[in-house]
Amino acid sequence: MPDHRYDPHVIEPRWQEVWAREHTWEVTNEAGADARAGQHGENSYVLEMLPYPSGEPHIGHLKTYSVGDAIAHYHRRLGRRVLHPMGYDAFGLPAENHAIRTGVHPRVSTAESIASFGRQFRSWGISIDWSRELATDEPSYYRWTQWIFLELFRAGLAYRKEAAVKWCPKDQTVLANEQVDAEGHCERCGALVEVRQLEQWFLRITDYAERLLGDLDAIQWPEHVKTMQRNWIGRSEGAEVTFRCEELGIDYPVFTTRPDTLFGATFFVMAPEHPDVMRLAQGTAGEQQVRDYVNHALNESNEERGNAERPKTGVALGRSVRNPVNGERIPMYVADYVLMEYGTGAIMAVPAHDERDHAFAVAFGLPIRRVIQGPPSQAPGAQEGGEQAQELPYTGDGVLVNSHPDFDGMANREALTAIVRWLDREGAGHASVNYRLRDWLVSRQRYWGTPIPILYCERCGMVPVPEDQLPVELPDIDDYTPKGRSPLAAAEDWVNTTCPDCGGAARRETDTMDTFVDSSWYFLRYCDASNDRAAWRASALREWMPVDQYIGGVEHAILHLMYARFFTKALADLGHLDFQEPFMALFTQGMVTKDGSKMSKSKGNVVSPASIVARVGADTARCYILFVGPPDQDADWSDEGVDGVHRFLGRLWRLAAETAERAGSPAPELLGPENPQGADLVVMRKAHWAIEKVGGDLRRFAFNTAIAAVMELLNECSRLRDQLHVETLRFALGSAASLLFPFAPHVSSDMYEMLTGQRVWEQPWPHADEAMLESDVYELVCQVNGKVRDRVQAGSDATPQMLGELCRQAPNVRAHVDGKEIVKEIVVPGKLVNFVVR
Ligand SMILES: [Zn+2]
Ligand SMILES: [Zn+2]
Repeated sequence: MPDHRYDPHVIEPRWQEVWAREHTWEVTNEAGADARAGQHGENSYVLEMLPYPSGEPHIGHLKTYSVGDAIAHYHRRLGRRVLHPMGYDAFGLPAENHAIRTGVHPRVSTAESIASFGRQFRSWGISIDWSRELATDEPSYYRWTQWIFLELFRAGLAYRKEAAVKWCPKDQTVLANEQVDAEGHCERCGALVEVRQLEQWFLRITDYAERLLGDLDAIQWPEHVKTMQRNWIGRSEGAEVTFRCEELGIDYPVFTTRPDTLFGATFFVMAPEHPDVMRLAQGTAGEQQVRDYVNHALNESNEERGNAERPKTGVALGRSVRNPVNGERIPMYVADYVLMEYGTGAIMAVPAHDERDHAFAVAFGLPIRRVIQGPPSQAPGAQEGGEQAQELPYTGDGVLVNSHPDFDGMANREALTAIVRWLDREGAGHASVNYRLRDWLVSRQRYWGTPIPILYCERCGMVPVPEDQLPVELPDIDDYTPKGRSPLAAAEDWVNTTCPDCGGAARRETDTMDTFVDSSWYFLRYCDASNDRAAWRASALREWMPVDQYIGGVEHAILHLMYARFFTKALADLGHLDFQEPFMALFTQGMVTKDGSKMSKSKGNVVSPASIVARVGADTARCYILFVGPPDQDADWSDEGVDGVHRFLGRLWRLAAETAERAGSPAPELLGPENPQGADLVVMRKAHWAIEKVGGDLRRFAFNTAIAAVMELLNECSRLRDQLHVETLRFALGSAASLLFPFAPHVSSDMYEMLTGQRVWEQPWPHADEAMLESDVYELVCQVNGKVRDRVQAGSDATPQMLGELCRQAPNVRAHVDGKEIVKEIVVPGKLVNFVVR
């Protein structure tokens, strides 16, 4: 037998060429899809979150796309037309920062990175429809990003206002709240974030808070991702109440979930970021102290600041506000336990009924007034000393006391409603729902992003760029260094333009868009990627959207996934889409770690996909990364594990090659032997078991156990190979190839072709034979002269004659029978066969 050597470096390019030459993974938008709207079920849209092209693809990309590709292949072989595109989230800071360091234009470094991604993805054999490839930095793409921005602008969903913004002093740009980590550092560069007041563009995502919350129930996403979104939206019911600072004549609305405790408010606290803090302190004795405190507080993390256990700090502002319910003037403080993100950035403090307010009042010697009396305690000894009130702070329900004759004695929940009604009548407040979600700050004072298509005309004011003048192309500039304004401001020729309304002089908006805008709609563009007349045709969306299976990292649970949902809903409201949710099902894959920690250059524990593929091939890399553990969990990389998977693929391929040779010319169908017995039966049953198992595992993303099932099948084939008919081996190994194809497409294609002459990806997904799944196999004891010499698997329907034959073939029986005469054969079906020999 010739030497069969498994060489992925020969096998893999060969199949990749076939797929490229034949455009195997491309799908068309079928003509007349309109007429068959509603037949989406035959189509499937499988999508991984688009990568950010920086340098080379990393191991996380390999994992995401190994998962997605397995799903895409499985769906195809279930008979669906599968859209499986990819592209690049090409704008953003890393390319720009690289440009600042090296002077290389971000377009150049991004294009190089994209080329590298494209090469590597092809070398991994990922089944992408490359005809739909896009990059968000291409004018043919961002033209439509700008169009969407203008659609939102016209609908009042994009607006400009001055705001306290998080500013990264190192990157010299504004950051979204979501881009600041829990310790108050810039997510990108790690610098401590500052607060500045600047005119900024916002998208009104808060208008969609209720729908973003409610519609979570309609999608199949992991529960922890939904919970993260719910917490981020942070809905709470209560009231907005206005406290007035009479000295300065300013109204301060606060949001409270407990308007029933209004009469217990004894002081008022503002967040250090509140834009009015310095204005209030100005000219007071404590002005410098306030300034120092604010600067200090801004460098603390929200997490620290929100910690209820932490000793409370703050500074008196030297001002007071009037409590609208009782006219009391209560002192104002600035304190870091109040967060700007919550409500209005100011609170009424009710120390008797709130833990943190209580701690602050104790620390600062402020009055504490009980206004809710809970029911008498049931605890033993609670009645001692007579009418002992509960300890403060008391946060439970009860009846109002020390409030106002109209409300005292009322149950607090009832009083809550009554007080809100009273506030409403007095014009001092109203019922309100508060969301933690803020409007999305989308302007960036940076170069490498989609230009915001707005002009400023002296006469006409803010003017949207007319649609026929899109895209507003990003001009080339010499200096990318940020100077507190967008580097684009220096491109005078570009900035100065004419107003489309009056023909007068106008200036372009020089801020660019947050890259999360680019990625909030790219999944729509894939459906109609080369359309140069519109962002998409309705018919194309009807054919593919919404995405059936979305795959990506849990780190996008809030930002990208929230923004994409918001865009979908807003575009649906504007009549551009007819669905409400972009991603029906979501799978979040776990991280790949090395030596127990996240891979990073600084730790020197990075495993590059390119080097692994060069060493063992893409099939091994893909199979390993899916085999190492449940793909939704983190998994630690092990080179030994990689080698183990490589050996498995090698053994499988060699046995297939030998079997193909033994079988002679390949037969197109995998039939297996008729009426298998003995070892053949064992292996046929194992093959059907694997078919059943892998299908089920694929449906629940248990790729690791699916691959393990194919390993078990191979082990059974290897163990019994000398006793098997070639038809059995052909069936078992052909099935193994068929089942392994979603994970290791090259070697599987190769094996399947050797065994059948067919292309495995054109075959329907195999079905297990029900009859072969029944576990009516038993262990037949083989005796020679009454001594147990072997055991074999027998089917319960085997005839006594078959059982005798099975036993005669058992290796250890043969050893004791050969050269002797069998004088008697005792067959006890279901139990044993005994040969009496002489
Ligand atoms: Zn930064
Ligand atoms: Zn004008």
